[in-house]
Amino acid sequence: MKNKINFKIVGSGPTGLLLSIALSKFDCNIFLTDLLTRDRLIDRDKTYAITHSTKKILTKFRLWEKLEPYLFGFDTLSISDSVISSITKLTISDLDDDISSSENIGWVVKHSDLMNVFFSVIDNYDNIFFMTNPKLVDKKILFDYQFLSTGANSLDKKLIHFIGLKKTYSQSCLTFKVSLRGNCEKRAYEIFREEGPLALLPLEKNLYQVIWTSSTLKSIERLNSDKNFLMDNLSTILPDEFKLDQIIGEFNIFPVSLSLNIPIFNFDKFVFVGDAFHTFHPVGGQGLNSCWRDVNSIFDLLNKNIAITKMHLILFKFKYFSTRIVDIICTIFITDFLILIFANRNPFLFPIRKLSFVLLNNFVFIRKLVLNQMTKSLVYSRIK
Ligand SMILES: Cc1cc2nc3c(=O)[nH]c(=O)nc-3n(C[C@H](O)[C@H](O)[C@H](O)COP(=O)(O)OP(=O)(O)OC[C@H]3O[C@@H](n4cnc5c(N)ncnc54)[C@H](O)[C@@H]3O)c2cc1C
Repeated sequence: MKNKINFKIVGSGPTGLLLSIALSKFDCNIFLTDLLTRDRLIDRDKTYAITHSTKKILTKFRLWEKLEPYLFGFDTLSISDSVISSITKLTISDLDDDISSSENIGWVVKHSDLMNVFFSVIDNYDNIFFMTNPKLVDKKILFDYQFLSTGANSLDKKLIHFIGLKKTYSQSCLTFKVSLRGNCEKRAYEIFREEGPLALLPLEKNLYQVIWTSSTLKSIERLNSDKNFLMDNLSTILPDEFKLDQIIGEFNIFPVSLSLNIPIFNFDKFVFVGDAFHTFHPVGGQGLNSCWRDVNSIFDLLNKNIAITKMHLILFKFKYFSTRIVDIICTIFITDFLILIFANRNPFLFPIRKLSFVLLNNFVFIRKLVLNQMTKSLVYSRIK
């Protein structure tokens, strides 16, 4: 182990796991740590939206074909505004030529399936060492570089000097699954409401994942309310074609925030990755996709210097930051702008909202621009 570079990845969520798989291609040892055991890391009831930019990244690391059996594709994205009663439907015909042969504009994956696939891949590498007691490794090994993928709210992060920008929306997302009467179509929904957006993501057979944003107080109230009452409440705001049958499984609630953490005056050899680096409002489903674009940038930067030297690793922090910042700022700006304009009942904003839907419904190039920005992350693909 002596001559190899030692990388430490702190935090084994979806970001930490993908990063360990990406780094395993180099001649190095990877010490992947978490406070939770493998079983607890896998066993979480969450669902992620996956975009075409992520498909490209997962294909590059030979993970796409392994994950494909667990993906639920959708070929239509319905975007509506319940306050001004406008709607548009984006379909695969709005995709750019290079991805138009795809049958889907996006996919949905369950957290447990994703983590199981990633851990089974990690098991096949003899240079990745997963451990649940980070302190044990610290005593024995000198690390050349550390990657902190400890998520949005890690306490340890507060011990590190960095500049942090944060905006709390005083909103939370309530997530749960619902079953429908009849089969569901391959259609995802983003419904803008006064209290915040409501996203519906198709899963197997007649199941849908609900991601319901509202004020934190309202979300907690809904979390504690009777399921039948909640179902009646939800039925009144869902599209007509939705025939709710029942609520399935457990409820989760997570706070919504916008944050950017920059360790700019800190010359220690570590970087933030994923939610530890940035968080966005979940509108548009960019969160995890953006975390994985961090991983891809780290891989590309290290790959350029095949003989990684310790000097390169110091410069690496600044190169990584400059590669990622434009994409992150754009995602922050777009998600924040959408919430500012579409999550309220301010009549002065109605003309802008109406105009957005008129443009989307009448100009193909605008539909293409919106859909391809969402799924291909145009800014990222240009600066890469
Ligand atoms: C309850 C909840 C539900 C969510 N539901 C959805 C959803 O339905 N759809 C969606 O797109 N997004 C959802 N999100 C957001 C999504 O989970 C994140 O964007 C995504 O998980 C980011 O991945 P990550 O690996 O960067 O961070 P995380 O998944 O947060 O992983 C961080 C890991 O670091 C570990 N850790 C923390 N501190 C330390 C330490 N000091 N040492 C070692 N390990 C440490 C944690 O145990 C954790 O396993 C949800 C978030 C929460 C909290």
